Order: sequence, then C-alpha cells, then structure tokens
Amino acid sequence: MREFEYRRVLDVSGAVALLDAEPDARFLGGGTNLVDLMKAGVERPTRLVDVRELPLDRVETTADGGLRIGATVTNSDLAAHPEVRLRYPALTQAVLAAASGQLRNMATVGGNLLQRTRCAYFTDVTQPCNKRAPGSGCPALKGEHRNHAILGASEHCVATHPSDMAVALAAFDAVVSYETAAGPGELALTDLYLSVGDTPHRETALPPGALITGVTLPPAPVAANSRYRKVRERASFAFAIGSVAAALDVRDGVVREVRLAFGAVASRPWRARQAERALTGGPASAEAFMAAADAELAAAEPLSGNAYKVTLLRNLVVAVLTELAEETAR
Ligand SMILES: Cc1cc2nc3c(=O)[nH]c(=O)nc-3n(C[C@H](O)[C@H](O)[C@H](O)COP(=O)(O)OP(=O)(O)OC[C@H]3O[C@@H](n4cnc5c(N)ncnc54)[C@H](O)[C@@H]3O)c2cc1C
Ligand code: SF4
Repeated sequence: MREFEYRRVLDVSGAVALLDAEPDARFLGGGTNLVDLMKAGVERPTRLVDVRELPLDRVETTADGGLRIGATVTNSDLAAHPEVRLRYPALTQAVLAAASGQLRNMATVGGNLLQRTRCAYFTDVTQPCNKRAPGSGCPALKGEHRNHAILGASEHCVATHPSDMAVALAAFDAVVSYETAAGPGELALTDLYLSVGDTPHRETALPPGALITGVTLPPAPVAANSRYRKVRERASFAFAIGSVAAALDVRDGVVREVRLAFGAVASRPWRARQAERALTGGPASAEAFMAAADAELAAAEPLSGNAYKVTLLRNLVVAVLTELAEETAR
C-alpha cells in the first residue's frame, strides 16, 4: 500500500494550485480508470485532487446555439441530457455503448477523455512498454495486438485510445477548455491527443497540470442525423474493436454535409477528413461510401494480427452511412 494525500476542492483555481504545487499529483474524477491504474502500480500519485465537487457539472446551451458540457458531468448525465439526445444523438449512443451503468454513473467527461490505453502490456508493470517506461520497447508489435492501431501508429507504440465518447466529440468539432496556473486555454478535441511518433508517453497537448473544465460543441444541424456504431467482442461491458461516429445531410441524393470519425483504430479518435472530402457533393450511394472509406483507410498499416480492422471499418462506414441516408430520404 502506497501512501498518498487526498484533497477535495470546491473551486477551479484551488484545484489547479494544488496540482501545480505537487509534480506527482493527479486530478481524480470518478476514479474508474485512475484508481485501477494505481492498484496495478502504473500510476503512483503522491496526491489526488478530487474534482467532483467543482462547479463544472452542468450541460448548458451556448449563445450561438451549441452546447457547453462541464468536465465533471457524469457520463450517465451526459447521455441522458435531452439536448444531447435530440441534437447530437451519436454522442448519447457513444456514451451508452461504453462500460456499464454503474461505471457511467461515476465516470466524468474530463476523466473519460484522459483515460489511458487498454493495451495489456501498458497495465502490466512486469512488461516493457514505451508508453509507461520510455525506451523499454513495445512488446505488442510482435505480441498481442489484435485490438491495436492500424492508423497513425509508430514503431514505438501501436496502442489505441479507448474512449467511445471522444469519437463522437471528434466528429462534432468539439473544443476542450482547460485551466492552468498560468490561465485558461482551449484545444480542438482532434488536437488534444498527440501523434505517437517516438514519444508515446506524451499523450496530450495539454500543458502540465491542466484541469479540463469543459467541452464545447459548436452548433451543427447535421449532427441531429447522426449515429454511433460500435463493434465489440461481446454485447456489453466491452471496449470497441472498431467504431464509427457519423452524421449525414443528403438532399436529392447528393451529400451536402458529412461527418465521420473512427474509434479503436489509432492513439486518438480518428477524424476521417479524407473520406468526408471524397463524399461531399457526390452521390449518397453504397459505392460512394465504400470508395470514401477505402480512401481513408488507404493509409492503414495493420500488423499481422489486426488487418481485420480495415475490412471491419469499411463495412461499418457503409452500413452506418447507408442507414443515415435512408433516414434523411424519408
Ligand atoms: C470495466 C470497464 C469497462 C469500460 N468500458 C469502456 C468502454 O467500452 N468505452 C469507454 O469509452 N470507456 C470504457 N471504460 C472507461 C471509462 O469510460 C473510464 O474509466 C472513465 O470514463 C474515466 O472517467 P473517470 O472520471 O472515472 O476518470 P478517472 O479515472 O478519475 O481519471 C482518468 C484520468 O483523467 C484525469 N482527469 C480526470 N478528470 C480530469 C479533469 N477534469 N482534468 C484533467 N484531468 C482529469 C485523471 O487524473 C486520470 O489521469 C471502461 C472502464 C472499465 C473499468
Ligand atoms: S502498444 Fe504502446 S502501450 Fe502497448 S506495449 Fe507498445 S508501447 Fe506500450
């Protein structure tokens, strides 16, 4: 049993100051990932700063008609919020496809975005792992990598980011707000996660000690016709082996606007911009959906054991966009 200090905070500046003063401190959301990692010896914080009583637990409409989601909103409350369900249904579906009811009741938005990879070597401190112990190697390359990355990985790490929520947020151009001792800042969600390169231990572009305060969704009428589809090895309580968040606006058989993001294929939610470009202004047909998926997945570099993900993603894109196209045509 390792000793650590536990502090509960009521204001944002107090939270940031407590983390700033202690290099090995961590913010504690629902604890559903961090506490597991502490038990495994992967995380060894000297101080936990519990953020759950900060005044960041609301979902509010912004002046321009978007939504502002506080960082301590629970995953359950986010999924159930009427404005989210109505205007960004893929986000509700993504959150409900994750974990279990009990976990979603505890888990927060900020913690969900910063949850760590589920690579088994990362969570086993007896194994080498470049992400946990830089320079020690990546046993997943020749070992167990069935659910590892096919896009944007490197020879140093092929782990995926496990969040379902982040995939829908990426499709909807979400912006993450944070606070540091030096002041506030913002990052597009798609820029929150760093490329793997040769520094897989550096996972986000957040400044050290940054407290995520919320996520803003800009208004996006196309998001009302959106869907999240997740494939996993059992029907519930399992991480994705591939997922797609999609939104589609079709008029007279032509794609006016499309949003597409993939999950469980990279170290970050993968916004499929190449596929979006290929589709916009063209026919809303299964052939076009497949060609767009292929254009995006042309960059895939699967390992020996996870090439199935390329086919899986292509089929997911075609299925989800076909469903959305049929619904807009009604
Ligand atoms: C059995 C199981 C199954 C799961 N299945 C899925 C799944 O299918 N899909 C999925 O997406 N997730 C799944 N999860 C993961 C779950 O969604 C995450 O554990 C949860 O969202 C993390 O939120 P939390 O508030 O508990 O974070 P915590 O565990 O409290 O924190 C996680 C990390 O975020 C940091 N942090 C927390 N809040 C902030 C903040 N405001 N600012 C800055 N840093 C912060 C912490 O310091 C820590 O590093 C599963 C978890 C379990 C245990
Ligand atoms: S894939 Fe990444 S997290 Fe997994 S063992 Fe390799 S370096 Fe570690």
